[in-house]
Amino acid sequence: MFEKSVKIGAEYLAEKMNRKTLKCQICGNSGEFKVFEVQDYNRAGTTYFEYSICSYCGCMQIVSVPDNLSDYYGNSYYSFCLRTRNKVIGTFVHWLMEKRDIFEFTHKGYIGRIMHGFIPRPVYGVIGNYTKKFDAILDVGCGDGYLLYLLEKLGYKNLSGCDRFITRETFNKNLNSKIKFIYGTIKECSEEYDLIMFHHSFEHIEDPRETLLHAYQKLRVGGGYSYIHSYSRVKRILEIWEILGSIRCSQTYFFA
Ligand SMILES: [Zn+2]
Repeated sequence: MFEKSVKIGAEYLAEKMNRKTLKCQICGNSGEFKVFEVQDYNRAGTTYFEYSICSYCGCMQIVSVPDNLSDYYGNSYYSFCLRTRNKVIGTFVHWLMEKRDIFEFTHKGYIGRIMHGFIPRPVYGVIGNYTKKFDAILDVGCGDGYLLYLLEKLGYKNLSGCDRFITRETFNKNLNSKIKFIYGTIKECSEEYDLIMFHHSFEHIEDPRETLLHAYQKLRVGGGYSYIHSYSRVKRILEIWEILGSIRCSQTYFFA
């Protein structure tokens, strides 16, 4: 079934692909790029977007970012409502995920160890290895703040998150939390940080080059880290899109 879906997807794309002269928003390369149209799944198939693949760096990117990008990150956006679609299953899955994620940091807990065996999330272990509890940490595109709340639970004291698609009310579920929330992009964050994280968010950012420059300027002088964690393989993304039959078009860039 999986193989068949991928094959159908590849044939579908080969039929759909055109070529256009474009400039890559990531590496600046100009030339003839493969271009294809993709249906936006969140809007019940009413919208299509053009995506291109840079012939030099392989980044897949939206040809034209819509003016109303925030409309595609409404309250029904999948990553903002994982727990509310089905409260019982959602809460149980969240509980398992949290056990696994705590295990990634602490290497403690039987349930977390089992979950780690099936679906590991090693990047959290890397955060644990490179940070101290009083380090200033910024999560760019923090969504509902899951990772920040987890870090607070683990004893981290200086946490901030920014997101321009989430309201302060949506973020501040725990009123006792000391996490700072900035409504906006990294440009609105005025402090210096020991760690700046882009956790499954960098591919959604409209101006990735400028954002990286801001991250560079906001890292603490003399030793700060920044990391980007995202889907990054164009081929894999194409396969997933085709298997699902459509996409979440609000993802803007995919880095090869
Ligand atoms: Zn490029």
